[in-house]
Amino acid sequence: MAQLILLPGKERSALKQRHPWLFAGSVGRLEGRARPGDTVEVLADNLRPLGRAAYSPQSQIRARFWTFDPEESVDDAFFKRRIAAAVARRQALPELRGQPGLRLIHAESDGLPGVIADQYGDTVVVQLTSAGADKWRKAIVAGLVKATGCARIYERSDSDVRGLEGLEPTTGWLHGEAPSMPLAIDENGVRLAVDIAGGHKTGFYLDQRDNRALLGQLAAGKEVLNCFSYTGGFSLQALAGGAAHVLSIDSSGPALAQARANLALNPQLPAARAEWQEADVFQALRDFRKDGRLFDLIVLDPPKFAPSAAHAERAARAYKDINLLGFRLLRPGGLLMTYSCSGGIGLELFQKIVAGAAHDAGRDARIVRRLAGAADHPVALNFPEGEYLKGLLVQVD
Ligand code: SAH
Repeated sequence: MAQLILLPGKERSALKQRHPWLFAGSVGRLEGRARPGDTVEVLADNLRPLGRAAYSPQSQIRARFWTFDPEESVDDAFFKRRIAAAVARRQALPELRGQPGLRLIHAESDGLPGVIADQYGDTVVVQLTSAGADKWRKAIVAGLVKATGCARIYERSDSDVRGLEGLEPTTGWLHGEAPSMPLAIDENGVRLAVDIAGGHKTGFYLDQRDNRALLGQLAAGKEVLNCFSYTGGFSLQALAGGAAHVLSIDSSGPALAQARANLALNPQLPAARAEWQEADVFQALRDFRKDGRLFDLIVLDPPKFAPSAAHAERAARAYKDINLLGFRLLRPGGLLMTYSCSGGIGLELFQKIVAGAAHDAGRDARIVRRLAGAADHPVALNFPEGEYLKGLLVQVD
């Protein structure tokens, strides 16, 4: 095994925080030969062993730790153990038991950098985003089959971030065959189709499950505006919760078509109360303002505006913009459910942005609840730069 030797002092984040990433600027030299994705032994400048990591020569994140135990082998059995542990963690949480849609592996937070796995019924979708994860594809598939007994596994490794690792996009069946029926899951009483091949990410945003349920509990009798509605997850929960009217906006025609199809899958819901609009949210909110249209409850769940801290400033302006417009469109006593999933914007900064938006909109407002991703999307304590969901439920006077 090749050895990756760090520069003096650069062992601290690994030793003190067990931070899973090693940036190029921390690395002194590589002794021996290692190809992209190979496991290397990581040593401090004084040759103290720190653990084993996946080497990625093209990426600024030069290595990602698999283990901080210098003696632990990274082999098929390693992946079997880590995957079994991740699945068992979810099974141990009563609120997640029996959920047909579930994130099984949440990358660094489950000790598996570059590995995402989402389960939809008996189908698992994996996304491998790092050179190390890509290399261990077979072991990851075997581990998932063993831990879940799933019938089939589809790969959706077409995320842009693979380019930073020198990896090509790749998609297709890794285990079992395409199902004969379209995939659908039940989420808190609502049926939702999941397009694993053509949808965003692995097909669906499971992290918002609890927040969609909360919206359902808040929606009775209210006029709801759901911005960035994707396939209608929030919209359908609002209808199920007795909303008077739900207007959903997304710029993606296919997402809205799927949303309409999802509504049709739920004949118990009052379809006449749903309205769908294909538009740019920034523009649509300005138009509502001009028309004097108001709402009781507004959801803002945009895509990530800041993939990294480098984009934080521009992203902050975009968050400020939509939240400011959202605040202006609320009736007195109205609620704003607002989110960010940008890795480059921390919780504290997000709250500041939302506070600034309320102030500029001339609204007195308070946080009635802090919101986060569901429990199958844990956030590793040592990994604050993760793209985890943060949200605020804010009420205006
Ligand atoms: N709330 C959804 C997930 C939202 S994902 C759920 O619970 O499932 C973000 C969505 O924003 C995507 O569907 C994307 O098509 C849409 N989007 C991105 N930029 C947009 C814009 N400027 N205006 C409207 N929709 C946009």
